[in-house]
Amino acid sequence: MTPQTGSRCCVVDVLGGGTLHDPDVPLLHADDLAAVRGDGVFETMMLRDGAVRNVDRHLARFRRGAATLGLPAPDAGRWLEATDLAARTWGDGEAALRWVYSRGRESTGRPTGWITVLPVSDAVLRARREGVDAMTADRGYRIDLDERSPWALIGAKTLSYAANMSALRHARERGFGDVVFLSDDGTVLEGPTSSVVVVRGRRMTTPPVGEGVLPGTTQAALFALAAGEGWEVDEEQLRVPDLLAADGVWLVSSVRGRARVRSLDGTVLPRPACADEVEALVDRAVLGG
Ligand code: PLP
Repeated sequence: MTPQTGSRCCVVDVLGGGTLHDPDVPLLHADDLAAVRGDGVFETMMLRDGAVRNVDRHLARFRRGAATLGLPAPDAGRWLEATDLAARTWGDGEAALRWVYSRGRESTGRPTGWITVLPVSDAVLRARREGVDAMTADRGYRIDLDERSPWALIGAKTLSYAANMSALRHARERGFGDVVFLSDDGTVLEGPTSSVVVVRGRRMTTPPVGEGVLPGTTQAALFALAAGEGWEVDEEQLRVPDLLAADGVWLVSSVRGRARVRSLDGTVLPRPACADEVEALVDRAVLGG
């Protein structure tokens, strides 16, 4: 295998031997249930200068997601070894490292799993730098969906992300950069690929997990750090007026780190005095800077 350092993509076939895979050669069979049904889980992590950030939190969510889907428990040692190989191969700089764990081939029933490393997109870097103009959007389900319909897999990071990506396209077609999902009763949930963090005074809150919200590793790392620095941190049911009245609202996730919501449905949210401090906390919690 030729070294992949500097290539635009690095692939490790985790469950197919744990070795590097040529990114220009196909990896999946046509009957892989990841491709056919989105049946599996994934994690996207920040890889920076050879180290994956918050890997323990990602591993915990990956395991919970696999259990929720009734997949065999992932072998942590195997995934972490493959992650080291991918990180070493990629080298320095910042990248998005993704674990994908699929129910596997329909014809064999054997799970498949692989890792990709890709550069961080310009759009993500811009959102981190400049913030985003977001719109609210009804997610189309009730806040207690996870209790009423456990098969909806709320709280698992499943491979079925087409609706999330469609919401982002919908926003972009209307001139917005991101989305804040609301439940049918107007409660704030999360972004299609991010957690919502709201700051008022020295208090940082996020919508409760288990109410149609994926538990975010970035939000968890941020709150753990902020709590140690004198911030009050909590979960809180929020509505749009709460976001508009807050000092600041951020969308946080592993690779972007944070993007401040600089307007919501067209209402400008001025950059607050606390913004530098909040963003520095996220950077320390996730980007390691
Ligand atoms: N909520 C959803 C729906 C997501 O897809 C993501 C990340 O992609 C997040 C929240 C934030 O999670 P994390 O901070 O672990 O990246």
